[in-house]
Amino acid sequence: MKIDVLTLFPEMFDGVFNASILGKAKEKGIVDLHAIDFRPYANNKHNTVDDYPYGGGGGMVLKPEPIFAAVEDLMKDTAVKPRVILMCPQGETFTQKKAEELSKSDHLVFICGHYEGYDERIREHLVTDELSIGDYVLTGGELPAMTVIDSVVRLLPGVLGNESSAVTDSFSTGLLEYPHYTRPPAFRGWEVPEVLLSGHHARIEAWRREQSLLRTLRRRPDLLESVDLSPKEREWIKKQLETE
Ligand code: SAM
Repeated sequence: MKIDVLTLFPEMFDGVFNASILGKAKEKGIVDLHAIDFRPYANNKHNTVDDYPYGGGGGMVLKPEPIFAAVEDLMKDTAVKPRVILMCPQGETFTQKKAEELSKSDHLVFICGHYEGYDERIREHLVTDELSIGDYVLTGGELPAMTVIDSVVRLLPGVLGNESSAVTDSFSTGLLEYPHYTRPPAFRGWEVPEVLLSGHHARIEAWRREQSLLRTLRRRPDLLESVDLSPKEREWIKKQLETE
């Protein structure tokens, strides 16, 4: 997968693209990551990328020319058009499902805004997706783009050491993940559930599924509406609700 990020602050990506799992994925050649300054694409005397909004009001607006030129430059040698993703608090809220969808693409281009916003023509005529990481406003699209990129790259085959760990993650199954324990078996008098020490795979699986359901029911009951549950599980949840 190739990922290009158009930003006014490419140095912000140095740490994220070179450390930990993303850094290793890059080293292994699984993903090709680039942070590109779009200011030189302004192609005007002072490389100006923003301007005052028509109609007045505070804040500066990112001009269309540099962003169109940068995206078109990235597309000039590619037969398949990339997904062009605008980071924007007004966009579709990013989810694990969206991460899974994006992880199937060969080429992603992220556009990171700053200031008041973008010229609307960028939104209307250049991008394929608009993504928000939540209902709050940050100063720029860099941190949101890093968030999306991290969650997409970890889904690529060969990136996580243990492939199965992404499969059982919260949201991948539609539920929140079950609790984890490691050694020691007793810590300050708090014991690891006996079933996890039993070595009995079927019992452990059943316990984990039950814990996952319980955790989702208590913390994110909204998720249960779109999960495929067996009639037995639905009945079990009903009982839990009756006893709570
Ligand atoms: N005036 C804009 C509005 O009200 O929608 C907010 C602009 S914000 C200060 C500047 C940039 O930060 C945005 O263009 C976007 O790239 C990024 N940004 C801020 N919050 C974000 C969020 N929740 N998700 C994705 N990007 C965000």
